[in-house]
Amino acid sequence: MQNLRRKNTRNICWSAGPLSARATVTSPVAAPSSFLAAPNSYQATHPLTRHAENERLHAYERGVKSVFDDIVPTLKEISALQHEVDFEQRAQHIARERFGCEFPPELLQSAWVKGLDMRALYAYIVFESAQAMAEDFFTNDPLAGARSEAFDKFLQACGFHALSVTPCADGRLAHVISYVLRLPYGAVRRKSSAGAIFDVEEATEKWVHTEFSRYREANPNSSDASTRYLKMVVYHYSGSDPLHEGCAAHGSDTRKAAQAGLDRLLAFRTAIENSFCCGASIDLLLVGLDTDNDEIRIHIPDAAGNLGLERTIDAREVYEATRAMSATEAEIEIERRVRERSMGGIGETVPGMRRFITRLLINNIAQLDYVRAYHGGCYQDIGHYERFIGVGKGFEEVQLRNLTYFAYLNTVEEGAKDLDVGVKIFTGLNVARGLPIPVVVRFDYDGKVPGARERAMAHCQQIRAAAYTRYAKLVEEGWLHCLLMVRDRAAPQGLEVVACSVTDKYRKQETH
Ligand SMILES: [Zn+2]
Repeated sequence: MQNLRRKNTRNICWSAGPLSARATVTSPVAAPSSFLAAPNSYQATHPLTRHAENERLHAYERGVKSVFDDIVPTLKEISALQHEVDFEQRAQHIARERFGCEFPPELLQSAWVKGLDMRALYAYIVFESAQAMAEDFFTNDPLAGARSEAFDKFLQACGFHALSVTPCADGRLAHVISYVLRLPYGAVRRKSSAGAIFDVEEATEKWVHTEFSRYREANPNSSDASTRYLKMVVYHYSGSDPLHEGCAAHGSDTRKAAQAGLDRLLAFRTAIENSFCCGASIDLLLVGLDTDNDEIRIHIPDAAGNLGLERTIDAREVYEATRAMSATEAEIEIERRVRERSMGGIGETVPGMRRFITRLLINNIAQLDYVRAYHGGCYQDIGHYERFIGVGKGFEEVQLRNLTYFAYLNTVEEGAKDLDVGVKIFTGLNVARGLPIPVVVRFDYDGKVPGARERAMAHCQQIRAAAYTRYAKLVEEGWLHCLLMVRDRAAPQGLEVVACSVTDKYRKQETH
């Protein structure tokens, strides 16, 4: 384990520039959060779009994804060299230049005897790249979203002391916090789940934890402040191919996906109201996302906080209606429309919720311009195109679309369905192209709790053992590789590798 532990010395810049420019630059210091910054209409299509923010987000997306997308062409290059006398040196040189790492020597030495194990090389570079991305994320905060006092204040001014979001675990929603909704990821609790169906008991525990912190520590505010916990569900659909590219967990049926999200939200509210007295309750918000172009549709609560499937407002609609206005006029008009639309129930929704919804719409307008500017108004990869599977709990660093298929779970048995879906997706994406399925198993822990690190490590090993049994044939043939990692949430550099199946396999062969 020791020699796998990363020395945080690589020089890849994930946050800026094309691939060729990355080699010698370190990540820039993150810009301050612009969540509440004044809109900047410079070259922007909509007056409320912050152009510089879009550029910064795009540099990060391009920087990270280009590394993953460069793996196959690079391996082809390396493969073509394998019969050269100085093969090892040249292969290591290429790996250092492109990915800031070296292959374990055993992986290259075996090439003389039985040819290069391309599956192992591929998995190894994916794992190195995933680790490097995570380290950059926790060290440099390239999305400038780790903390945001401005957002905390804004949230409380809207009447909420906490925001918990459950998007679907589909990789096409992995950027929902930092890009689609433009919220500081550190101030929002994200817990993805297949079909956006979250665990009510677990959500209730989190609510208790939040309320207890308010009571004991006045964190984030005192328990007598009249704010509430806001729970949001993000379901999804595909505008261009609704019958095939929607949510797999709901058979690509948009109405079913929305209804399931709503039912779960209502169950959570009932759980809180029935379990705790003194008028305990929570606020709810349901959001739909078109994964083709990142447009959101917000279901607006009425005066009593009730949601309906029909009472919605679309970001595209407000975008088109306000694009010719000044930024101030546009903001006023969006708020007016939110208020008007919220009147369908027993009365219009409260001002704080209206303000929050207005902000989400404005933030999403910037994302619509982002997709238009950098992805031609509609993503090319409207279906699955994830680069690795993430299993376990954590993965705060994954804030990019179609980078990771999440399978959040405690045990393989409990999350078998999610993991099977992931393996099926990757069988089509990778195995069909001769590439293995890279699985990153990860558990975050609280370093202040005695024994937590060891338990997180043991947890990783258990997940791997169960996955190896479940997918024995794939593992045996080298089609499935695992990287095990843990992270201390309380330490800025708390990421640690527990084991890597690629190096384990080759070291084992060496000793036999
Ligand atoms: Zn889904």
